[in-house]
Amino acid sequence: MDLKGKRAIITGSNSGIGLGVAEELARAGAEIVLNSFTDREEDHALAAKIAKEHGVTASYIKADMSKGEECRALVEQAGGCDILVNNAGIQFVKPVDEFPVEKWDAILAINLSSAFHTTAAALPGMKAKGWGRIVNIASAHGLTASPYKSAYVAAKHGVVGLSKTVALEVAGQGITCNAVCPGYVLTPLVEAQIPDQMKVHNMDRETVIREVMLDRQPSRQFATTEQLGGTVVWLCSKYADQVTGTTISVDGGWTAM
Ligand code: NAD
Repeated sequence: MDLKGKRAIITGSNSGIGLGVAEELARAGAEIVLNSFTDREEDHALAAKIAKEHGVTASYIKADMSKGEECRALVEQAGGCDILVNNAGIQFVKPVDEFPVEKWDAILAINLSSAFHTTAAALPGMKAKGWGRIVNIASAHGLTASPYKSAYVAAKHGVVGLSKTVALEVAGQGITCNAVCPGYVLTPLVEAQIPDQMKVHNMDRETVIREVMLDRQPSRQFATTEQLGGTVVWLCSKYADQVTGTTISVDGGWTAM
């Protein structure tokens, strides 16, 4: 896959899936713009590491995806982009009648509204070039629900709806927009939950992963950040020119049930 000459912005990419996507896009030759809301030395070091390892240009731009104007400023500061991966996301779990309002607002802002703002900011440049790829990292929870995740499920269903709408608005202009729907992915965030779950359930690592964490994922295997990155790279390739307005599940069969 050759993405040389394409600039990719990946929101929320100083860890987990976003970082995995950035690495695979860099491997394919794309210029990389990493993002998160922090501005630490190690954030900029990540960009330098990607640049060195893959021989591409890479930078890190701080922007808080809970704030619409910062989402738009990210795209502007990057000088626009050819590939936009909306990945930033947070989670919070509570019954709907106890769900804190500020958590609801934050999840909707970061997981859904940020994609509206970055897309609105990136599209004029993509239209001018007649080429663009927008990939929204949704979730199996963009297609199905679980109790106690009202804000997350609502936001991720919203991301799927936004992806379809954008795809229709730009169809035939060389721009595609799709949602990737991961099941459970082994990110540092998920890895950190394993020791606690082992204690709570008095199980060994393998059993807790298979029986507790992956009880809804028929393969009983995590998806990897590399597999998610590869899916995004494929969506950016010429083979996916006519793939638009759809969802691609990377969930070990979760949503087939
Ligand atoms: P993660 O916590 O490792 O990554 C989330 C990223 O978003 C981090 O880089 C974080 O810094 C960033 N972020 C959080 N708030 C932000 C803000 N206000 N502004 C800018 N950046 C912000 O988690 P992850 O598992 O890699 O999740 C990435 C995406 O994948 C999320 O949208 C998540 O909903 C989705 N997802 C994850 C899984 C999974 O099992 N890990 C499954 C389905 C979907």
